[in-house]
Amino acid sequence: MAGWDVIVVGAGPAGEVVAGRLGEAGGVSVALVERELVGGECAYWACMPSKALLRPGDLLAETRRVGGVRELVDEARPDARAVLARRDEVIHGLDDSGQLPWLEERGVTVLRGAARLDGERRVRVGEELHTARRAVVLATGSGAAVPPIPGLADVRPWTNREGTTAKEVPARLIVVGGGVVGSELAQAWRSLGSEVTLVEALPRLLGREEPFAAEMVRDSLERHGVDVRLGVEATGARREDADVVLSLAGGAEVRGDEILVAVGRRPHTDELGLETVGLEPGRIVEVDDEMRVADRPWLFAVGDVNGRALVTHQGKHQGRIVADLILGRPARDRAPVPRVVFTDPQVAAVGHTLESAEAAGLRVRAVDHPPGAVAGASFVGRGEGSLARIVIDEERGVLVGVTFCGPEVAELLHAATIAVAAAVPLADLWQAVPAFPTRSEVWLRLLEKAGL
Ligand SMILES: Cc1cc2nc3c(=O)[nH]c(=O)nc-3n(C[C@H](O)[C@H](O)[C@H](O)COP(=O)(O)OP(=O)(O)OC[C@H]3O[C@@H](n4cnc5c(N)ncnc54)[C@H](O)[C@@H]3O)c2cc1C
Repeated sequence: MAGWDVIVVGAGPAGEVVAGRLGEAGGVSVALVERELVGGECAYWACMPSKALLRPGDLLAETRRVGGVRELVDEARPDARAVLARRDEVIHGLDDSGQLPWLEERGVTVLRGAARLDGERRVRVGEELHTARRAVVLATGSGAAVPPIPGLADVRPWTNREGTTAKEVPARLIVVGGGVVGSELAQAWRSLGSEVTLVEALPRLLGREEPFAAEMVRDSLERHGVDVRLGVEATGARREDADVVLSLAGGAEVRGDEILVAVGRRPHTDELGLETVGLEPGRIVEVDDEMRVADRPWLFAVGDVNGRALVTHQGKHQGRIVADLILGRPARDRAPVPRVVFTDPQVAAVGHTLESAEAAGLRVRAVDHPPGAVAGASFVGRGEGSLARIVIDEERGVLVGVTFCGPEVAELLHAATIAVAAAVPLADLWQAVPAFPTRSEVWLRLLEKAGL
């Protein structure tokens, strides 16, 4: 039996941050247990490879907007083989040895194997029992949910894993699900030459983002040649020789070489021994704003497994909070969630949409202006559609949500995150003068429209 101060289960971004921050502080013995690759889903099968697949198409699209280099690329497409090779570099060929020094330097012990709880403060890794004097932190992440569409599981669908690491470009790809993952991967594989059909049961893409942004992304996917079918239920799937056939409500069928399922995530809690501490396996591990599990002061959960915000940066934020609490420093999560959809146009948003703010009972007003209509847009994203929206809380005179949609807007987001997270009064925001000629001038236009 081995004893530690803290045992962290799962070495994805959230778990790594908990362990690394504790190690950095010193004086705490930390074991970090990982059953696959240190770095988690994000580094190998999610954030990083998907962005590697998207970036060349993005760059080409932007190059086509700039006279002087547009002529060089003409009708060029990304070189698929080179893009896949670059993707393999980004995911280090699924080798996690590069992740280890950062943890080792901080004195964190990495234990390889699947962990399960075995009662209070007890964790089994294989047959070996480990105990935690201070805390156990669950950071086991999530996997793709495969919906119960008849036949779907039998056609060997791609999940995000194959959808980000495939070695060949399928000639025809069906994407089921039009959320962030479905929209990004539809665009990525289309840019590499696949004929892509995207099927979404809801009447629009990107269900939680502003409708105008969802509409712009749909429009762009269609212009790039993706067949987008909205408001259509998939009712069955089968293989016919090499083809996969997806049946749709109403009788239509779609054929492809591969089918990618991107309809949501399931927490990795099936085989985690949650029942040994009175929790239900297979569900998210619910936590409060300190990431603590109710009535179990020794147990925390961070990242996708707690279901609060399924993005890497928020999982890492939660990880910093837990490390600080274990170190005796007060901390809690009150951050608005920044989100980026890396399609072209990109959608970059923080905090509320107009609809979610109204649903939350806030008295709000939305003000819109296109970032493409300021001088900086003569040089970036020129000629493309775009729109920015601020959602103003009328009672407090602060922003509670911001959404940008347009080419390369992701890097505009952090200013909005600061404004929302710090509840900067509108009059103070007006003193933050954007440099000329940058697209950040859209802030000034939005504030002027808001009456400043
Ligand atoms: C295609 C795709 C693209 C994405 N792009 C972005 C993006 O651009 N930006 C962004 O912020 N987010 C993105 N996300 C979301 C992001 O990947 C997740 O929010 C993030 O990986 C969650 O981190 P985590 O540490 O909670 O879990 P994970 O990254 O899932 O890591 C959990 C780790 O725990 C391990 N584990 C599980 N159970 C056990 C066990 N019993 N014992 C030992 N180890 C265990 C797993 O092997 C894994 O390594 C994307 C997701 C997908 C699917």
